[in-house]
Amino acid sequence: MMASMNAALQPFERIDLHMHSSWSDGVLRPAELVALAATRSVQLLALTDHDTLAGCEEARQACAEAQIAFLYASELTSLWKGREVHIVGLQLDPAAPALIAHLEAVRQSRRERIQGIGLKLSAHGLPGTEIAAAVLALPGTPTRLHVARELVQRGHAEDEDDAFKRWIGKGQPAAVAAAWPAIEASAAAISSAGGLAILAHPHRYKLSAGGLRELCAAFRDAGGAGIEVSLPGMGPADAGRAAALARRFDLAGSCGSDFHVPGVPWRPLGRFAKLPEGVVPITERLGLEPVRGALPA
Ligand code: AMP
Ligand code: MN
Ligand code: MN
Ligand code: MN
Repeated sequence: MMASMNAALQPFERIDLHMHSSWSDGVLRPAELVALAATRSVQLLALTDHDTLAGCEEARQACAEAQIAFLYASELTSLWKGREVHIVGLQLDPAAPALIAHLEAVRQSRRERIQGIGLKLSAHGLPGTEIAAAVLALPGTPTRLHVARELVQRGHAEDEDDAFKRWIGKGQPAAVAAAWPAIEASAAAISSAGGLAILAHPHRYKLSAGGLRELCAAFRDAGGAGIEVSLPGMGPADAGRAAALARRFDLAGSCGSDFHVPGVPWRPLGRFAKLPEGVVPITERLGLEPVRGALPA
């Protein structure tokens, strides 16, 4: 009985290779995140905070205690043809000097961007200096989501989405563009740390089918190893397109929740997704056994 259930499991089940802690714009501490993952019977986990590895050691220890396999990881903010693209680095050596320098430079750009956003908010009569100072005083990577939370708390926006639409989103009064490293530089930093580069959430880039193919070709040429083929918010059509890109460009399939906050029912931690047909699971390129096991009672 149990054996036949196991045989029906796909290698993707119980894997979550994309999530954020309070070391970037998530709200749970790494150990709290792992505790939640354990309740969802996650067996392989990567903490992918934006442009930092700061939470990974705490997550690794918590995973060891919960008997969850852990990968040091980060989501690297990058640019391709003037467009922001996110590259997840998996199985990183946290001591690799080129990666450490790369991430520190991006966080410095982020700090400058937050200051710039603060100045623009001030020019519109908002307490921009205070908002920027509050965000920069937080531990970890400062993001626009932190600014959005401050704007909501201080009554300048109804919710985070409203803060982006009204103030800090593209084209809005306090928007500040940033010169992120090119995808080639991100992929090189990841390689220098012995990791695998994964193209994150391809369905979110507002690219045409041809544009996505061009991006995947450039990413593959830069040494990219995988692409996210299953995550919340990806409908069947998006998932089908991502799987087709994986097969066409020989990219392995990765998956994760992109979890930031609890209580958002459509973005739960622990994605037990099916591996699309003909796509190599990222676990294979990571040199890991496909994750299989008994279903929880
Ligand atoms: P940054 O990386 O500084 O540009 O901050 C962007 C972060 O804010 C992303 O990683 C998302 O988690 C979040 N975000 C982006 N757009 C929105 C939005 N419209 N509403 C709420 N959160 C958003
Ligand atoms: Mn985020
Ligand atoms: Mn992202
Ligand atoms: Mn993310």
